[in-house]
Amino acid sequence: MAQKGREIVKMNVDELINILNKALSDEWLAYYQYWVGAKVVKGPMKDAVISELTIHATEELSHAELLATRIIQLGGTPVLSPAEWIKLTNCGYEAPSNPYVEEILKQNIKGEQCAISIYNKVLDITREADPVTYNIILTIISQEVEHEEDLTALKEDLELMLERRK
Ligand code: FE
Ligand code: FE
Ligand code: MG
Repeated sequence: MAQKGREIVKMNVDELINILNKALSDEWLAYYQYWVGAKVVKGPMKDAVISELTIHATEELSHAELLATRIIQLGGTPVLSPAEWIKLTNCGYEAPSNPYVEEILKQNIKGEQCAISIYNKVLDITREADPVTYNIILTIISQEVEHEEDLTALKEDLELMLERRK
């Protein structure tokens, strides 16, 4: 544990670790939702959607990495069991049971919008209290905003294409 690093945090550190473990659970679920979504997705523009979903899966995994590293620095334990993800998650998990591209894009856009609002709250909590965590969350939320934009752009392209076929 980073002794001095923990000392400078001006909030309840256990509470902060809990917030980070909830976010870590979200990231693992987001990772899997993208990863398995990329495997099952069907319909027009499938190739472009698969590439984007696969990249996003990798990026969610890198968010999990950043959060777990910070939890350990603070003297905490990253959530150890997948069963805990479902208990701790803020944004939940939406199984891609309907593999149609538009449905998968909608589900993931919803997930990104949830992630953005959760991370925005974490920024508010940590801005003054823990600039180190704040900086990590800022990196993550910036990428979630990119994710929302990428998926929304794909969904718009899909709609334009379907519109022209009518
Ligand atoms: Fe993420
Ligand atoms: Fe994301
Ligand atoms: Mg992207």
